[in-house]
Amino acid sequence: MGLLIVGSVALDSVETPFDKIEDALGGSATYISLAASYFTAPIHLIGVVGDDFSKEYIELLENHGIDLTGLQIIEGGKTFRWGGKYHYDLNMRDTLFTELGVFETFDPQIPEKERNDRFVLLGNIHPSLQLNVLSQVNDNAFTVCDTMNLWIETAREELDEVVKQVNVLIINDSEARLMTNESNLIIAARKIMEMGPKYLIIKKGEHGALLFGEDQVFSAPAYPLEHIFDPTGAGDSFAGGFMGYLHNTGDLSFENIKRAVIYGSAVASFCVGKFSVKGLEDLDMLQIKDRFREFKKLALFNEGD
Ligand code: AMP
Repeated sequence: MGLLIVGSVALDSVETPFDKIEDALGGSATYISLAASYFTAPIHLIGVVGDDFSKEYIELLENHGIDLTGLQIIEGGKTFRWGGKYHYDLNMRDTLFTELGVFETFDPQIPEKERNDRFVLLGNIHPSLQLNVLSQVNDNAFTVCDTMNLWIETAREELDEVVKQVNVLIINDSEARLMTNESNLIIAARKIMEMGPKYLIIKKGEHGALLFGEDQVFSAPAYPLEHIFDPTGAGDSFAGGFMGYLHNTGDLSFENIKRAVIYGSAVASFCVGKFSVKGLEDLDMLQIKDRFREFKKLALFNEGD
């Protein structure tokens, strides 16, 4: 049984202090699926694009073994477009525009045979769409959800319902603070866990990630990268690597979830090294495993005397 991924498939225009691009391949489901494709198969992508979405991008996704049966292509419709500009401090990003296009009327339809997929990743889209997907999938599925500040501010009720229903919530530190009105991340995490999810991952950008669950906390280091060209999709590729590894191993023990966090971090570290999805196009498992081992070294120390 496969890994079901729902989210945005987008054309991104991104500006950083180093370069800019227009209408490049992007979207939460795109980054997630590409990252997961290095770990597992089959991957079923559920999303929507217009007929302005290039065949080249479709081929790129298909060449990574991603099943696009659930990708709706709307005749005469316009693909979701997002524009963002990064500051010199790459942790700071302004959204320049969001053009919903075909997203405005998107009604995710999970093909019959994929409704039994045991692993479901709800990428960043409106929480009402995430709820729609949850209502179509198997009650026993292992569900993971990502979100963003926009939905915390504008669709709180629906988002709370999603959080109540999923097994894992992945958010970043500022979103955790926004969600709970709490500046301390440990207290924020406790408050979020009380809302429902069994596990919570708080990403801290270039400072690593925290995993909470089963009365334990695991702190994943950040990879010390010298060249970050485009942070877009870092969070999504983290989620894709995380879930791809769990789907492949089928092991949901806390120890294995810790490994999944490191694999997610490893893939994300490749994503940010190039513009758009370029950093995720030509990876292989050997490179990912090497980086996984480097992560291990980063946090290893002995007790001394
Ligand atoms: P991240 O850098 O992980 O926040 O993800 C960036 C991706 O999210 C971009 O490729 C965008 O196309 C996509 N994105 C931005 N805003 C939205 C939104 N409101 N709904 C869905 N996807 C979005």
